[in-house]
Amino acid sequence: MIMFPVIVLSCAFASVVAMPGIYNIVESVDNEVHTYNFPFVTREEWQARTPRKTTPLNTPVPFVVIHHSYIPAACYDKEKCCGAMRHMQDYHMDDHGWWDIGYHFGVGSDGAAYEGRGWETLGAHSLHFNSVSIGICLIGDWRFELPPVEQRKTTMALIAAGVELGFIKPDYKLIGHRQVRATECPGDALFNDIKTWDHFSPYPHSHHDLLDVEEIPDSVKELIRGNGTVPV
Ligand SMILES: [Zn+2]
Repeated sequence: MIMFPVIVLSCAFASVVAMPGIYNIVESVDNEVHTYNFPFVTREEWQARTPRKTTPLNTPVPFVVIHHSYIPAACYDKEKCCGAMRHMQDYHMDDHGWWDIGYHFGVGSDGAAYEGRGWETLGAHSLHFNSVSIGICLIGDWRFELPPVEQRKTTMALIAAGVELGFIKPDYKLIGHRQVRATECPGDALFNDIKTWDHFSPYPHSHHDLLDVEEIPDSVKELIRGNGTVPV
C-alpha cells in the first residue's frame, strides 16, 4: 500500500489542480491514494457502474498493451470523455457480458486519464494476455491520424506512474493490441507512433507467438491451446 496525505478533490477542483507541475491527488475506489502529474478522473467522477465481479491482478506486470476505442470517437473535454467511458462500460458489460469496462484506464484527447479497472484488478482487454498486462485505451479512432500530443504524453506519464507505484515492472514491454490478437487495434497511425515510445517491444509479433511468451502462465497457455474457458 502506498500512503500519501488523503486529499479528495471535487470535480470543480480538478481543473485547478491539473495545472502543469502541480500534482493531482486522488483517492481511488479502494481507498488508496495516488498522486499524478496529469489530470486523473476517478470512476466515481465518470459515474461508473459497479463491477459485477473483480479478480486481483498480479503486479507488477511485465507488459503494457495500447488500444484505441475506434468507437467512441475522440473526446476533447471531460464531459464527453466521461460519456465515452460510460459508453464503453455499457458495451463491455451489456454486449460482451464482461464484469466491467475491459480497460484499466482510458485516456482522452483532453489529456486526462480516466480510471477503468485501475491498477490492481485483472482486465479484459487482450484475450489470453490479461494476466500479464495493463491495458490502456486512447479514446478515439487512430487508424489515420495521431492522437493529440497531450493524449500521448498523458499515456506515457500514466505508464511512468504505474512503474513508480510498483504496478508495472521497470523493464516492462510496451506493445500494441494487434501484437497479441488478430485486430487492427490500436490503429495504424497510433501503432506506428508507439513503435518510437520507450520500452516498445516488437515481440510478440502476432498472436501466433503467444505460446512462446515466457511470462504467460501455463494455465493461460492451456486456454490458448483450446482447453478451458477464458475469464472475462
Ligand atoms: Zn484493442
